[in-house]
Amino acid sequence: MAGKILGTTVYYDADCNLSKLEGKKITVLGFGSQGHAHALNLKENGFDVTIGLRKGSNRWAKAEEQGLPVKETAEAVKDADIVMVLIPDELQADVYAADIAPNLKQGAYLAFAHGFNIHFGKIVPREDVNVFMVAPKGPGHLVRRTYQEGSGVPCLYAVEKDPSGDTEEVALAWASGVGGGRSGILETNFKSETETDLFGEQAVLCGGVTELIKTGFEVLTEAGYEPVNAYFECLHEMKLIVDLIYEGGFGKMRHSISNTAEYGDYYAGPRVITADTKKAMEEILRRIQSGEFADEFLADSKAGQPFLKKNREAAAEHGIEKVGSELRGLMSWLK
Ligand code: NAD
Ligand code: MG
Repeated sequence: MAGKILGTTVYYDADCNLSKLEGKKITVLGFGSQGHAHALNLKENGFDVTIGLRKGSNRWAKAEEQGLPVKETAEAVKDADIVMVLIPDELQADVYAADIAPNLKQGAYLAFAHGFNIHFGKIVPREDVNVFMVAPKGPGHLVRRTYQEGSGVPCLYAVEKDPSGDTEEVALAWASGVGGGRSGILETNFKSETETDLFGEQAVLCGGVTELIKTGFEVLTEAGYEPVNAYFECLHEMKLIVDLIYEGGFGKMRHSISNTAEYGDYYAGPRVITADTKKAMEEILRRIQSGEFADEFLADSKAGQPFLKKNREAAAEHGIEKVGSELRGLMSWLK
């Protein structure tokens, strides 16, 4: 039954009314990481799911192979009661203006897996449209796999607009239908989900972690150590440590490592991540909150992604990637 975790309301399958999706025409736009997982999990729950894609999309055949009807985006929106937008964030506003808004039924539900476009005002739906979010806290492939195994990835859900009065129930039914109610569906709002998601991926998970690994690798190799050792110590073992933290917090990890490692952890950590690092993180958060990051990212996308492409190419050329691709060849279990 519904409960509270640290002040946040959590719902489980028993609290969700799946019949809120019965008899409704559901359209999922996009069949990528999130799209395939939401669509297939809901279809296996017996719901009426159609996929909307661009004409000529290479995902078209993939969706049909899985037994899902596919239409072009505008057509797929036309008779839908619920439209879940699972196309890349940077394309959503243009697709909304061109294909979704002119075709969206009166009183329809418009849904997202990330609050970006609604929160930053890039999509402003009509007054009659209900708006909710179901954001699984994991990549789509995990959402699909755990569902098939009988569990599910926890989801955040939020309601932004509720002219029909039952949007929360529809959102909870959706979250339950994709498997979230097997582990927990947590209430949030568009602002909090959007800003914390962007901050996490920038400062810690993606930006923070890769830069930390890369800098450690550079320090060792520039000091003359073998690239193989540098790779193992700075990248490969990251997973072993993170798995322990994931399972049991810092305590479990520190219990498993040697006293030497634990001493070094307390001694060196604050010298690497300093008060200046914290200030830099606060500035990153400020740029997210003000919308400067969103505008910068969307402008890059509109210009053909010069920043993204330049950095993607440079990252692929870094020594750690070359060393990694050779070393991983030794690790048969990674294939
Ligand atoms: P993705 O890149 O994996 O898939 C995007 C899909 O959109 C593809 O099937 C593509 O063919 C389709 N597409 C592209 N342009 C289109 C158009 N003009 N019309 C119709 N379809 C089009 O994207 P994703 O990672 O699944 O992200 C989708 C949403 O889910 C985003 O809002 C993202 O922030 C959110 N989200 C993603 C994850 C994740 O782990 N990937 C987790 C939580 C939330
Ligand atoms: Mg994200």
